[in-house]
Amino acid sequence: MALTTHKFDAVIIGGGGAGLRAALQLAESGVKVAVLSKVFPTRSHTVAAQGGIAAALGNVAEDKWLWHMYDTIKGSDFLGDQDAIEYMCKNAAKAIIELEHFGMPFDRLESGKIYQRPFGGMTQNFGEKPISRTCAVADRTGHAMLHTLYQRNIRANTQFLIEWFALDLIRDADGDVLGVIALEIETGEIHIIQAKTTLIATGGAGRIFKASTNAFINTGDGLGMAARAGLPLQDMEFWQFHPTGIQHVGVLITEGVRGEGGYLVNSEGERFMERYAPHAKDLASRDVISRACATEIKAGRGVGKNKDAIYLKLDHLGEERINKSLPGIREIAKTFSNVDPIKDPIPIVPTCHYMMGGIPTNIDGQVVDTTGVVKGLYAVGEAACVSVHGANRLGSNSLLDLVVFGKAAGDHMAAAIKQNNTHKALPANAADATLARIARLDNASGENVAEVGDAIRDTMQNHCGVFRFPDDLAKGVSEIDKVAKRVENITIKDKSMVFNTARVEALEVDNLIEVAVATMHSANARTESRGAHAREDFAERDDTNWLTHSLFYKENNDLRYKPVNLKPQTVESFEPKARVY
Ligand SMILES: Cc1cc2nc3c(=O)[nH]c(=O)nc-3n(C[C@H](O)[C@H](O)[C@H](O)COP(=O)(O)OP(=O)(O)OC[C@H]3O[C@@H](n4cnc5c(N)ncnc54)[C@H](O)[C@@H]3O)c2cc1C
Repeated sequence: MALTTHKFDAVIIGGGGAGLRAALQLAESGVKVAVLSKVFPTRSHTVAAQGGIAAALGNVAEDKWLWHMYDTIKGSDFLGDQDAIEYMCKNAAKAIIELEHFGMPFDRLESGKIYQRPFGGMTQNFGEKPISRTCAVADRTGHAMLHTLYQRNIRANTQFLIEWFALDLIRDADGDVLGVIALEIETGEIHIIQAKTTLIATGGAGRIFKASTNAFINTGDGLGMAARAGLPLQDMEFWQFHPTGIQHVGVLITEGVRGEGGYLVNSEGERFMERYAPHAKDLASRDVISRACATEIKAGRGVGKNKDAIYLKLDHLGEERINKSLPGIREIAKTFSNVDPIKDPIPIVPTCHYMMGGIPTNIDGQVVDTTGVVKGLYAVGEAACVSVHGANRLGSNSLLDLVVFGKAAGDHMAAAIKQNNTHKALPANAADATLARIARLDNASGENVAEVGDAIRDTMQNHCGVFRFPDDLAKGVSEIDKVAKRVENITIKDKSMVFNTARVEALEVDNLIEVAVATMHSANARTESRGAHAREDFAERDDTNWLTHSLFYKENNDLRYKPVNLKPQTVESFEPKARVY
């Protein structure tokens, strides 16, 4: 196989919101930067973000970044690192103004200021009452943001390598990262991309579950690469289930619907969130609402033929309001659910949505191992765990995370390149393991890729859902370890029919399994309930033993722990307390 080497100052793996924000910072500071993306950048999952992006602008009611910080820490069930959360909330307003100056067409209030809507868990004055903090472009915020960032990058001369599939990181004997190996999907050629700094911005991995709001491309490739390079994956037991995915198809109905006044009802027509979260009701945080939905269904109060869904009602908002603020939702409901929400409720179920865990980093986006900073390697966005979302992310905080930490990482990379402006020599065997991994796919016999992929998704769906039971978790661990063995043996058999896309699908399974194994083992080991990790046998949060981040290493399925950082940068700590909405 021919191997071509390319040299850049910085290579960014991923052209979603996080990767593009970092790339822009680098390109504008004169750095030679390449963005690698397995799909056209504006098809990244960021494009699907509907509801909005949070910042305490105070355009609708008085607001403070400290209140946003408090809400985020509480939402994280105190597992978020308070220095990172302070940094994000403090820099949020600046990030929004910046996006608006880049040309992002935010919705407006009558006054001409940026429109803001309420979102779950976002409150005024430390939990007193819900606040409108989420800036939006109708229900297509991610679309507007991604296109804005892409166009700015074109203007800044960022180089794009489109439909290139990153395979593995290149790490030398010192543990430094020197670039990435990639497959050009169209030609099948393997390339070595040598860089002084490498950034992983490959997004989430929601496709480890069968029911997911995530795009098919969200297969955790960056996490797979990190795991294979000997790096830890942090807090992988924490997966957000969004309360309102469309039944059977998983397509998301934004929380913005409830922000605009929609609410959930059970088969008795009861607005049941009034019982579970008397104060915040349908705007409690997502883990709380997903558990409430699952409990209602279990108690026989589900809707539909099999009583296995919940209704999301918004007809009372009126056609005009729905058409103005939620046009995409009306379209989605008609297409995927065959209901028109101006008349009828939408049947929904809690659906896998967001990965709170990821590759551990500091505030500058540098990847950190138990031994310290990994030289040359950065991670941002959903692939990273900095950790601002802790055990449960608040809606509209992810888009914010992308731009705030994307910029921070870009700045740090530019400075690092200036300081040490040389390419380290590549190890002679840089691509050997990768080439062997690809070659095995051509074995004459072996397991079918789709079947093994389904085995991963079924195992996760059945053993690691909204509620977690001890027997299921233990069984899930042994099942997923068995599936991992099968993955080693996958093959694309019928060679006359093989396109490189089939090769890519097989290589994605290599990454899905790393994420699934890390999730199953981390979930089984954490004997408490916190945020999105809800165990039947350990129903309470246990701050004495578990105020810690978990770090999963692929080698020997090793789990280590490190304390949560409860010390913000400049303000006082928010001490853990009971979390009620
Ligand atoms: C339906 C939906 C709605 C959402 N709505 C909101 C919302 O309203 N507000 C909010 O804050 N958050 C929302 N989220 C979450 C948020 O959109 C995501 O967390 C965020 O967009 C992730 O951005 P990212 O840049 O990290 O990754 P992505 O946007 O997923 O981009 C990943 C990039 O990596 C590339 N890539 C991946 N693997 C490889 C590889 N092997 N080789 C080369 N390239 C690769 C892809 O091509 C892509 O360009 C939503 C999520 C979903 C699924």
